[in-house]
Amino acid sequence: MQYDPIEKSAVSKLKVKPGLADYERARKSFSWWDVYRELDWLPGGGLNKAYEAIDRHVAHGNGSRVAMIWEGKNGEQEQYTYTQLKERSDRFANVVTKLGLKKGDRVFIFLDRVPELYFAFFGVLKAGGIVGPLFSAFGPDPVRDRLVDSGATILITSPDLKRKITRILPDCPDLQHIVIINKGNRDPKPLEGNDLSYEKLMSAAAADFKIVNTSQYDYSIMHYTSGTTGKPKGAVHRHQAVVQQYLTGKWALDMHPGDIYWCTADPGWVTGTSYGMLAPWTNGVTQLIYEGGLSARKWYQLIEKHQVNIWYTAPTAIRMLMRAGDEPMKGINFSSLRFIASVGEPLNPEGVIWGKRVFGMGIHDNWWQTETGAIMCANYQSMEIRPGSMGRPLPGIEMGILDDKYNPVGPDIRGLLAVRPGWPSQFHNYWRNADMYNSRFKKGWYITGDRAAMDKDGYFWFEGRADDVINTAGHLVGPFEVESALIEHPAVAEAGVIGKPDPIAMEVVKAFVSLKPGHEPTPELRAELMRFARQKLSSAVAPREIDFVPSLPKTRSGKIMRRLLKARELGLPEGDTSTLEED
Ligand code: AMP
Repeated sequence: MQYDPIEKSAVSKLKVKPGLADYERARKSFSWWDVYRELDWLPGGGLNKAYEAIDRHVAHGNGSRVAMIWEGKNGEQEQYTYTQLKERSDRFANVVTKLGLKKGDRVFIFLDRVPELYFAFFGVLKAGGIVGPLFSAFGPDPVRDRLVDSGATILITSPDLKRKITRILPDCPDLQHIVIINKGNRDPKPLEGNDLSYEKLMSAAAADFKIVNTSQYDYSIMHYTSGTTGKPKGAVHRHQAVVQQYLTGKWALDMHPGDIYWCTADPGWVTGTSYGMLAPWTNGVTQLIYEGGLSARKWYQLIEKHQVNIWYTAPTAIRMLMRAGDEPMKGINFSSLRFIASVGEPLNPEGVIWGKRVFGMGIHDNWWQTETGAIMCANYQSMEIRPGSMGRPLPGIEMGILDDKYNPVGPDIRGLLAVRPGWPSQFHNYWRNADMYNSRFKKGWYITGDRAAMDKDGYFWFEGRADDVINTAGHLVGPFEVESALIEHPAVAEAGVIGKPDPIAMEVVKAFVSLKPGHEPTPELRAELMRFARQKLSSAVAPREIDFVPSLPKTRSGKIMRRLLKARELGLPEGDTSTLEED
């Protein structure tokens, strides 16, 4: 039998189905060095995510395994082995190298979930670049903010997505090349200006590439994430994050070679790269990638047709499936499923119970965020799920609950959710914003921005955000970003944005707007503002509701008091209003 580095792994100490005792033992005897040793590292020295996810399998004689099963939104089907992924990503590494990419240069990808997105992603990593995937539903403003802030030199996109952002391209001075992927000739128009054809570049490129010798500390991926103030910040991750992505794929998502795995997240968000690329492929599984959006019947058919064993999704999707009822699952056989997990928002206990009824198994919630790069705490396969809890920390990870002075508190007391720094997939900076990065570390802890509690058995329970950041359908939205877009409309004087609780999406974005003199608060203006924000941002980020108000509550220093807007919206006590500016 072929040597398989994953199956023979020393980390299998924790077994396929670790019991509570195994978990306790693993916590005590755990060493990240064991996991570092499980990876191959680059043949010439150094560490590169693309090598660990793809080339390693080919080097070990497993290149003929299917890495990707792809279904397009128009029903197209494609399949790629690890050898084919290696060949495509090698070619793309040659393409970007020829375009002048140097180690550390930023390349952004603005594409739907087509196979070429994945080839390009790994090609950039192989060439030593930093790759930034962008959610394809974004409007022009978020794309501009990210391209400008990162100083990206190459953008990879499709004809229709390029058209959507044409007006902001002149605002991006660092951008030197635009590579156009015309998947299946979906948009058969000639290329514009200096745009480059992906297909032509790829067929001219050599099929073999020697990976640039990146070290574990070199930057590899950046994902923009929202905070309370300012525009989204680029959380930068290093190649060594792959160590934890690999381990959590195995331990928290129960991946094994031969498994068919489906992650429903888009690579524009961190779950779509850490668990839609790196964890599954470092673990040698076959990954289903579906380009289309959520449709209950289609999703159930995909599970049955591709015999999905492991399914990683999000609470909003689960609530939407629950709402769709039993009709769409009629005649579908779910017996291939072995493990279901979810992330991004709190998973209601009803979701766990629904999973048991419909699929015969509970749904395993786990917790992490863009900055942590990988799963930090989880409900594991072997342990009893505590419905409503995010589970227990991964061995090798220390999480705690702190009071407002950053001192640890005991069990069952709510406080700030914090992590001891130094985990392998820890972000290493916010791009060009070291002050913001440093502000997240206090008294030897990384402050996550969430509030939670830990019970006496070490399970963590999410309470909410500690700041004004909105979580809508698992996507974090910074109120400032939405307010900035709204006040660009000529009728808007001021805007304040909050998250309003919603039974499906957890929160929806709600805006309060005061108008400039001469503008009337009409239903037509409200509809126009919603359209305006959707076009600039995306429907995922734009407000779902807008209320007109004569003025917004502000502190004496002029800061909009979103907390007060929210309290008034929800009919809650207004709390301390001593800093409120009187009208
Ligand atoms: P992001 O950085 O966009 O991936 O969002 C991370 C945030 O989503 C976390 O800081 C939490 O606020 C929220 N989140 C992620 N997973 C969970 C979970 N299992 N339960 C509750 N909230 C979660």
